[in-house]
Amino acid sequence: TAPLPAPADLPAPVINPNATIVLGKRYLRKGPDGRPLEDETGLFWRVALAIASQEANYGEERDVTATARQFYDLMTSYKFLPNSPTLMNAGTPLGQLAACFVLPVGDSMEEIFDAVKFAALIHKSGGGTGFSFSRLRAKHSRVGSTGGVASGPVSFMRIFNTATEQVKQGGTRRGANMGILRVDHPDIKEFITCKEHEHALDNFNISVGLTEAFMQAVDANRDYDLIDPRDGIATARQSAREIFELLVRKAWESGDPGIVFLDRINRDNPTPALGEIESTNPCGEQPLLPYEACNLGSINLALIFSPAAPDGVDWEELARIIRLSVRFLDNVIDASQYPLPIITEMVRKNRKIGLGVMGFADLLYRVRVPYDSPEALVLAERLMSFIQAEAQKASAALAAERGPFPAFDVSVFPAKGQGPLRNATTTTIAPTGTLSIIAGCSSGVEPLFALSFARHVMDGEKLVETNPYFRAALDAAGLSRPDIIAEVARKGSVAHMEEIPEALRRIFVTAMDIEPVWHLRMQAAFQKYTDNAVSKTVNLPNTATKEEIAGIYRMAFELGCKGVTVYRDGCKTAQVLCTGEAG
Ligand code: ADP
Repeated sequence: TAPLPAPADLPAPVINPNATIVLGKRYLRKGPDGRPLEDETGLFWRVALAIASQEANYGEERDVTATARQFYDLMTSYKFLPNSPTLMNAGTPLGQLAACFVLPVGDSMEEIFDAVKFAALIHKSGGGTGFSFSRLRAKHSRVGSTGGVASGPVSFMRIFNTATEQVKQGGTRRGANMGILRVDHPDIKEFITCKEHEHALDNFNISVGLTEAFMQAVDANRDYDLIDPRDGIATARQSAREIFELLVRKAWESGDPGIVFLDRINRDNPTPALGEIESTNPCGEQPLLPYEACNLGSINLALIFSPAAPDGVDWEELARIIRLSVRFLDNVIDASQYPLPIITEMVRKNRKIGLGVMGFADLLYRVRVPYDSPEALVLAERLMSFIQAEAQKASAALAAERGPFPAFDVSVFPAKGQGPLRNATTTTIAPTGTLSIIAGCSSGVEPLFALSFARHVMDGEKLVETNPYFRAALDAAGLSRPDIIAEVARKGSVAHMEEIPEALRRIFVTAMDIEPVWHLRMQAAFQKYTDNAVSKTVNLPNTATKEEIAGIYRMAFELGCKGVTVYRDGCKTAQVLCTGEAG
């Protein structure tokens, strides 16, 4: 059926210059001649209508056009945006709307190459894939059928990497992978050092899956067992400190690998009866069961600022946005066409959604609270606990209308006395690499990287951005002089600019001005009220030591984070595809 045309009185969205470039290159639908078939109004209406149309599935007596208008207003006000695949593919024949997938990799040729093929299908549709390679037998183990020896997880990862390289995602984005190996896998050393050799695994983020037993062994300076994944039998003993120090050294050198805490992740698994969580999506914020997928969406906190409110936050408006966003994301599950029947089946059992935030650093600028302060942590907890609670209420209300997620009865919720929910998880904090460009806000819960900078976006395009709230503060202080603006653009930060008043220097902090421990505290504050995980990088100065990184890893474990990514300024790195560059 032909889509309903956009109502004639639909207001056209205001598109910022950077968003015009990003949307034009990758998001507007194009015809065979490469010319756009829609403008920005058409894009947002296409998405709004495709998502609103799902309400008919529930026999809901709602006016689809009216709901579509609500969704259109929600997105074009930039108060909420769904993840990129939803913007790109909703209402198109491809129709794959989720950003995050996890695929199992079994220990046989069939299963390994099935996973390669499934990943290719997902990448073609704009999704990112995570894999645990922990089930693969170690390098040099016997291969029964041939009498030869196995080549081990790392060599198979190169095949996934090459396949990813070749699949240009339907003209949209190149594919991103997460590779995880348990710390007790016999090939763990090779895995930790596998990105040393330039470019061999460029399409992978890698993380080591740490266990509590391992962390205790590090503390006690004990050996731990390496385990053959085929039979669970220990094959060797290994010094925990040696592995921990290797991990820290590699992260110090290149930022890779990151770490994830598997036991912590599985304590929050809402449906252990359906399986164990072994991996996350590429940027680490979404742990999933094998064959699960999840769609994400982010609320722009910069726009819930209200100068009239005592704490600067319009809570009523935030609650309204949350309710509408949860409804939107639940509809996305039904609107999405998944690349495999088994993924459709898994997704529909748990109906996970990941509502999160972006523009947090902007909000802090607006309420005049420094990112690295106890007040900022308090605000983070208040915001995220509110979002978590309201999102769960909205999911419960949807369960009353549409029924709970099918695996609800076997989930952890009934035993906790929790009434029916429509979604097994509701909250996730994504990096919002592209969404934040479209919305013109700071990304995720990260501090600003710089107050003014040139962003390289796709195919060498350069976008210069100055933070609008900083600009307004300079104007108000009568300091918008060309020499000052040029200096901020050069330095990125005002931390050491004497001509800027101390009070402003304190508020307008950037990632590199912030002590690493505050990055981690902020991650932990958001994690406390997030069902899934939090995308966050702990930025370190170039002078940071390995001991500091070791300290951050231990602290992340103690604070209940689900993983950590560190990045030391100026170290060599091949960051995968989760920034504006991926588009
Ligand atoms: P966006 O802002 O484009 O919606 P995010 O930066 O928030 O995306 O990333 C969210 C998730 O989307 C990532 O964790 C990953 O699963 C997926 N993703 C991001 N970039 C890519 C990419 N280039 N290719 C495939 N998947 C990606």
